[in-house]
Amino acid sequence: MNRMPRLHELTAKEVTESIRSGELTAREYISAIIERIREVEDRIDSFVTVMEDEALKRAGDIDYKVRKGDRLGRLCGVAVAVKDNICTKGIRTTCSSRMLENFIPPYNATVVEKLLSEDAIIIGKTNMDEFAMGSTTETSYFGPTKNPWDLTRVPGGSSGGSAASVSSGEATVALGSDTGGSIRCPASYCSIVGLKPTYGLVSRYGLIAYANSLEQIGPMARNTYDCALLLSVIGGYDPKDSTSAKVEPKDYTSSLNGPIDGLRIGVPEEFFGEGTDERVAREVWRAIHKLEDLGAVCEEVSLPSLEFALAAYYIIAMSEASSNLARFDGVRYGYRVEDDGSDWSTVYSKNRRFGFGPEVRRRIILGTYALSAGYYDQYYLKALRIRTLIRRDFEKSLREFDILAGPTMPIPPFKLGEKIHDPLELYMCDILTVPANLAGYPAISIPCGFIDGLPVGLQLIGGPFTEDLLLRAAYTFEGAKGLTSIRPPI
Ligand code: GLN
Repeated sequence: MNRMPRLHELTAKEVTESIRSGELTAREYISAIIERIREVEDRIDSFVTVMEDEALKRAGDIDYKVRKGDRLGRLCGVAVAVKDNICTKGIRTTCSSRMLENFIPPYNATVVEKLLSEDAIIIGKTNMDEFAMGSTTETSYFGPTKNPWDLTRVPGGSSGGSAASVSSGEATVALGSDTGGSIRCPASYCSIVGLKPTYGLVSRYGLIAYANSLEQIGPMARNTYDCALLLSVIGGYDPKDSTSAKVEPKDYTSSLNGPIDGLRIGVPEEFFGEGTDERVAREVWRAIHKLEDLGAVCEEVSLPSLEFALAAYYIIAMSEASSNLARFDGVRYGYRVEDDGSDWSTVYSKNRRFGFGPEVRRRIILGTYALSAGYYDQYYLKALRIRTLIRRDFEKSLREFDILAGPTMPIPPFKLGEKIHDPLELYMCDILTVPANLAGYPAISIPCGFIDGLPVGLQLIGGPFTEDLLLRAAYTFEGAKGLTSIRPPI
């Protein structure tokens, strides 16, 4: 039976259209979002900070613009949740860490400026694994986020709060960051669309760094159109980010409807190795056959270097983390222990000992080890060499194919607490997402099915700056499969 969607269920496209036409006011819609947050947030815990008052005030400003007939931005009125490692001026940005529990940035990240200049409304800052280190949100200092599809299970991570908020209707779209899968993993586990852009497409200015040679900010949404819309807003060159690529901003919504006839899809056999759950493999193959029905041509391919991707990723990510997180010493800002008259080096160590959680400390220590004299060649340099091999393997297979397809996650969402005490087992979950970060290539996760009511995501990877192609394939698949209308039972 068809029913009218409730206001918090509207897509970003519908929200902007209804606000423009005067059918809906931004205040009505934002009030419905706030009501939805009140209804479910104590069970899901998507947010570190909910910005009720600011959001309502901005909604009022946008309604005023509508009444005056001013030009309205591409995201006018849309409630956006922002991961809490992206700086928001005057609003606490914690990285879900005790270290930054009270940190209030004096500036906005470029992506936040872009959202605001297109009249989006930031509804809150979302929970994440501490400093984005994890795949479940369980390492958050503020406690875990729950999966809206099954509250006893993890929502994925590290952008778990962003994914859960969008999936459950507490926000219409969200920003996440992806160093080794942190957008795609929770998108897959919460049955939404999440895209990690090509390295350099989206400015990282104002993103609190974990491993900067790997990470990108990216869009998360309940459908591909909204994901494309959000990417169109945040993409493009930024002189404030030295790794930003000199590319013109693009409207990714305009190419969604193109054909995928003859699209050549390579299916890496390594993505279906022994770690991949058979039920996941079955759902993903079904999705790949669906793409064939829609006109794509699929063929298996091998990328032998993928075997080493996980090891290389963790050495590089931890090494960069050990250097990036050196700045948090509690002196100018950040967590600071009570002054007991100790010397400065004791104070430094105590601030870091108590300001960081165990997973962050583990990674700083391992990263420092990998970079230290005598081990640098053995670990870090070797990992960089593997990274080059992986990029070459991708380059080679993407000469033969337009995109690569496989599962996003090797296993379905698991129980909270199930793996958190076994770091290696948790790291293994990232095996299919880290290759795209090592190569710097764009990758998207889209809902493709369910196993006993738990979401399964399909991952598509493309060559540099082929986001339009990935989004078009995703959009066509979504249209044929019709999964986005299925929402969690919460
Ligand atoms: N789970 C991976 C890690 O812990 C990826 C995290 C991320 O993408 N931020 O490093």
